[in-house]
Amino acid sequence: MSNIIMLHKKCSECIHMSNGLTSVFIDVMLLSGSQIAQTQQQKNLIIWLSEKDQSKVGIGTVGFDICDMPWNTQTFQQDKAFLIKTALEVKNKLMWEYLDYTPNEEMLFYCIDKFIELVSNMNTTYIQTEILQQWLAEEQLYYEKCPKHHTLLTIFGCHICNNS
Ligand SMILES: [Zn+2]
Repeated sequence: MSNIIMLHKKCSECIHMSNGLTSVFIDVMLLSGSQIAQTQQQKNLIIWLSEKDQSKVGIGTVGFDICDMPWNTQTFQQDKAFLIKTALEVKNKLMWEYLDYTPNEEMLFYCIDKFIELVSNMNTTYIQTEILQQWLAEEQLYYEKCPKHHTLLTIFGCHICNNS
């Protein structure tokens, strides 16, 4: 089983990841994004991503469309740049000293590059404004961090703690 990330349903490009690689992908994006997120909205995007937690919602069930993320039209350009920077910092191995394993860089960076490509093609016409409001209404967000990994916590706790 595996997980697929697409830009939107009609997009032919996609990222196909094994369940294990998906978990690594989320771990490293969470480590990087938790460090460089500056606004609540940027933290929202990282928290939403980290709720794709296979230990809590089921193995092989966390594929998603980038257009279904809780984007905010008002701050879209800076948030898109933030997400791309988060992915680029993964390639600098930002905060990897907090992982208790060593990712397979070749496979991971291939997917990170693909993710950067997909996010680069995201634009405001794909934003569904109700998604952010609905998600915020369902969440209790405290923007607290895991004391061990310095990562933003989701309703499920820390993605790295949960999957290690
Ligand atoms: Zn943790």
